[in-house]
Amino acid sequence: MNKPARNLNIAELVAQDTAHHFHPFTDHKSLHAAGGARMITHASGVNIWDGAGRKYIDAMSGLWCVNIGYGRKELADAAYSQMLDLPYYNTFFKTSSVPATELAAKVASLLPERFQRIFFVNSGSEANDTMVRLIRHYWALKGKTYRKTFITRERAYHGSTMISASLGGMVGMHEQGGLPLPGFTHVRQPHWYDFGGNMTPEEFGLHAAAEVEKRILEVGPDNVAAFVAEPLQGAGGVIIPPSTYWPEVSRICKKHGILIVADEVICGFGRTGKMFGHETFGFEPDVVIMAKGLSSGYMPIGAVAVSETILKDFFDLGGEFYHGYTYSGHPVACAVALENIRIIEEEKLVERVAELAPYLKQKMETLLDHPIVGEVRTVGFIGALELTNDKKNRGRFADSGRVGTICRDHCIASGLIMRACWDTMVFAPPFCITKEEIDAFAKLARTALDLTHADVKAEMVG
Ligand SMILES: *Cc1c(COP(=O)(O)O)cnc(C)c1O
Repeated sequence: MNKPARNLNIAELVAQDTAHHFHPFTDHKSLHAAGGARMITHASGVNIWDGAGRKYIDAMSGLWCVNIGYGRKELADAAYSQMLDLPYYNTFFKTSSVPATELAAKVASLLPERFQRIFFVNSGSEANDTMVRLIRHYWALKGKTYRKTFITRERAYHGSTMISASLGGMVGMHEQGGLPLPGFTHVRQPHWYDFGGNMTPEEFGLHAAAEVEKRILEVGPDNVAAFVAEPLQGAGGVIIPPSTYWPEVSRICKKHGILIVADEVICGFGRTGKMFGHETFGFEPDVVIMAKGLSSGYMPIGAVAVSETILKDFFDLGGEFYHGYTYSGHPVACAVALENIRIIEEEKLVERVAELAPYLKQKMETLLDHPIVGEVRTVGFIGALELTNDKKNRGRFADSGRVGTICRDHCIASGLIMRACWDTMVFAPPFCITKEEIDAFAKLARTALDLTHADVKAEMVG
């Protein structure tokens, strides 16, 4: 597929976009200075095309979501026939629809036995808001209104609403809108590259887990509602915790009776080589947050799974949960998510990620010889390259994020989409990527790194 479905006047569209589209996560001044947005017009497999007809390898699967790859007609067909049958109906007030029912059963079947019931939402942010209301209400029903505080991590990303941004640990986001709200506290992220010092990663994992316990004790174990975390931190820079971290955090939370919430918005549905990230990292959450991979981004949908142990109390202690969205369990979104999961299972895409993960790792590790690459880490089909000014001492360039942005722009100019999280280059390619496409990806990444290195050197000379 080398053309979009209709003819487009790109220059006019870009002007219109600049005039009328208020973009999320965008510095509008620099967008205007750059002459407007890159207009993405169509996509197929692992490739996207822009308005100038330039083709890119999308090594980010959109925003970590197009896991099955672009252009799957089956999902379009599922949406089309569902729209004809029933385009919309709600799931409030003792009503349901066929796709919402089937998707709830399907998602429950993929999760561990203790998860039997699924609450639907439209995004990861809404899933996290739902989770906070639900857990606080759960503790209140049990007469423990004081169990209100959520412990999360710095540089965590849990969404953009007031609650989900409070859960998140992004300082820049907190500075806008008076966040975090009361009742959210953040501990340091388990990022060995930055904070490990002379510890081995395994020692550092235990050290980072001990910081979680220290915070629990500071807040008072009885005041803690839950520990909320991504199995690996995505937008924080693909921070893959050392193997010792999760088992120890798990032990600590159990010891203090604290619930564990796994935000599987990125990890869920196969990204780490198992269906869920908590399986890869070895812990047992009480609540699972899902979005992105649930529909491979083809429709907006998210979900919250809550263990039956919590729900039993929740239901027994009774009353209505005054919470829900007009589009909770939207039939079209659910039909598309069902088709997405059917493809993941039928084409054994999770197994494919597990099988090809060593190849992706090996190819990306060939970049370790590069003068500005300090570390390469991957698990499954997600990973990161640390840009460094000092390979031996895991150094960082001055003015965090500046060199990352230079590298990101060189990637784009070379035909590759990688994202910069400060000076960490991150990638999460679609599960359908082939070995040849992985080779091409690594080659384009090296080109971008060479150009970035040349820029950095020129700066030092000049
Ligand atoms: C993207 C993301 C979210 C937010 O999801 P939205 O659909 O953008 O609201 C939440 N948690 C994690 C881990 C994410 O990566």
